[in-house]
Amino acid sequence: MANDTVVWLEEVGKEDIAIVGGKGASLGEMIHAELPVPRGFAVTAQAFRRFIDENGVSEELFKSLEVDVDDAEILRDSEKKAKKIILGAKIPPDIEKSIKSKYRELCKREGDEVFVAVRSSATAEDLPDASFAGQQDTFLNIKGEQNVIEAVKKCWASLYGARAIYYRVKQGFDHSKVNLCAVIQLMVDAEKAGVMFSSHPSTGEPVTIIEGAWGLGESVVSGSVSPDYYVVDKKVMKILERKIATKNILHTRDPKTGKTVELPVPDNKKNATVLEDDEILKLVELGEVVEDLYGTPQDVEWAIKNKEVFMLQSRPITTIKKKKEIKEKVATQAMLEGLGASPGIAYGEAKLVSDASELGKVKDGDILVAVMTTPDMVPAMKRAAAIVTDEGGMTCHAAIVSRELGCPAVVGTRKATQLLVDGIKITVDGEKGLVFEGKKEIASPVMQPEKTAISFTKQKPITATEVKVNVSIPEATQRALETQADGVGLLRIEHMILGLPKHPKQYIKEGKADEYVNELVSRIQTVTDAFYPKPVWVRTLDAPTDEFRAMEGGEGEPIEPNPMLGYRGIRRDLLDTEHFELEVKAFKELVKRGYSNMGIMVPLVQHPSELRRAKEFMRSHGLNIDKLDIGIMVEIPAAALIIDQFIAEGLDFVSFGTNDLTQYTLAVDRNNEHVAHLYNEMHPAVMKLIEHVIIECTKAGVKTSICGQAGSNPKVAKRLVELGITSISANIDAVEAVREMVARTEMQLMLKASREKKNS
Ligand code: PEP
Ligand code: MG
Repeated sequence: MANDTVVWLEEVGKEDIAIVGGKGASLGEMIHAELPVPRGFAVTAQAFRRFIDENGVSEELFKSLEVDVDDAEILRDSEKKAKKIILGAKIPPDIEKSIKSKYRELCKREGDEVFVAVRSSATAEDLPDASFAGQQDTFLNIKGEQNVIEAVKKCWASLYGARAIYYRVKQGFDHSKVNLCAVIQLMVDAEKAGVMFSSHPSTGEPVTIIEGAWGLGESVVSGSVSPDYYVVDKKVMKILERKIATKNILHTRDPKTGKTVELPVPDNKKNATVLEDDEILKLVELGEVVEDLYGTPQDVEWAIKNKEVFMLQSRPITTIKKKKEIKEKVATQAMLEGLGASPGIAYGEAKLVSDASELGKVKDGDILVAVMTTPDMVPAMKRAAAIVTDEGGMTCHAAIVSRELGCPAVVGTRKATQLLVDGIKITVDGEKGLVFEGKKEIASPVMQPEKTAISFTKQKPITATEVKVNVSIPEATQRALETQADGVGLLRIEHMILGLPKHPKQYIKEGKADEYVNELVSRIQTVTDAFYPKPVWVRTLDAPTDEFRAMEGGEGEPIEPNPMLGYRGIRRDLLDTEHFELEVKAFKELVKRGYSNMGIMVPLVQHPSELRRAKEFMRSHGLNIDKLDIGIMVEIPAAALIIDQFIAEGLDFVSFGTNDLTQYTLAVDRNNEHVAHLYNEMHPAVMKLIEHVIIECTKAGVKTSICGQAGSNPKVAKRLVELGITSISANIDAVEAVREMVARTEMQLMLKASREKKNS
């Protein structure tokens, strides 16, 4: 067999790593142990070698890889050249014949032309146990002899992807000594799939951890979806924990084209458990068998179809630390300083993420480090124990989302991505805005392995001033509800839209505007439903063009010199009425479904005519706004200064957007860490504007509120209550402290009033 270029998986075993790589050898071994592994064959590392040698391309190929891998452009160019060489070369005829004949045989065994997965299994000649996991590509749903041949070539070419080249250079591997075996396996049309750690991946404790999502395992492995999370005590086979995530997308085979496609998860399955208890326990049992087989804990990829469980691959967990190794570096001085954007303390491994393709790196309990987070990073942010960014202020994306997720965060450190490297252990103090290398013993609050849980055991004080909560991502609804807030004072719909797989314009272009409206309705409804009958003020789109441009189909977003002063808020909706119309459609549907607790809030108004036109538009498109609370955000000093003219236009409430009001009043970019020291929400000029608006609105009987970050500061809350504000909307983590301050201030005011009355 050693000379064969194409071999059945059942013909290989753990001693054959040099021939079929770690993945191929492990699959063979599992087949011998009668584990449920999809059958198939492998095109060996030697076949790959012959392919290179017989085409006479080795010199040209390896020369193309001798580049400065730290220069991204040069690296991409090297990838392009190397892949072109591989894709342009011809597979030796006898190897091609063997591949085709094995594929035909596989089809014959199955009684039909089958779909297969073509996976890569790399191996180093002199270091057969080197791990190259996850660096090469997998091709799913391949059918037909010629397509299999093409996929094998593409698989081989993926050995020269930029990431793989970079890794080998940094790890000191000689490119010419690394070969690639292509494993061709029957495709499992998974209804659900995911990964499993047969023992705890960092401590080695006897608990099995399973992550699963709908469809093919692709979405879990790439990190593009937040999977469900199950923990099982395998000694007594007891399920200890189930965290059911909101799963928005799935990968599956399109029955018409046969290609793998990404689809939205049907509404009734989004928040449903992926695994039934019997399936969880079956997986744990299989995990035990495979762990026993190899004598070491395993990281397994699994799939389930019609209740039948398959194991797609297994490899040893390399992250478990032996007791002796856990001699932690004890931190003393902070290595990075930034803004404490979300409170809590966490300790874990840093994982640097530069774009969505790297999200899979962030496992449960890791610390996500990025220049700045983007909406497509939210699934990984949910898994992270903490978040650290180079850029941003207290109201940037990372800050808003981490607060909602209850995940400690430090933003605006300027150089986290330069100083930190993958795998380094750090402690993040989200309260003080500090990052330490190693484990920092912080007496109080205690280290929090889990995300900050909100617990309200104390009696909730009743306050005359309503204390509400802000929500941006639907996943935060439950935590928001647990604050027992008096409603939602700001629901930012753009975060919900940014969480969709593509830009609204792309839906429109594909004739799927209704699908988009349904998505919007379902996300807003998650919140209006949970809080019903308490009010939920839904804000119309306030989309920053820079964030929307990154979405699929978002290329048309204008490139602006200063997006903060540009095409956003209501000025955007009044120009892009095609989109405004879809928002109004969604609001109408919510009213139809009985959510009379919904109010509409118009952002970034600077002239009363904008409010007038927005109201006219909603009315003329069939939304009965007379039955809903309609208000504006006071975010631009101009709106504060002429608030009387807005009142004359007719409105039920105003809400201070102090994040913007502060930046526009003080000329301090809210996201610019270089001027963060000048950003002061309590600046007398900002407070003066607020005071003026509260006085005018109180006279006119218009409700006043605040939903900017300043409302989460108890000191500001105190001042606002003294000024007579009607409600305060705070971040989830701040609701309790703000409510206490509101209650105390109200009592102080009453006491003062009664004393003054007595003395008079
Ligand atoms: C604000 O400006 O204070 C606000 C709440 O809106 P956003 O942070 O979304 O701009
Ligand atoms: Mg704003």
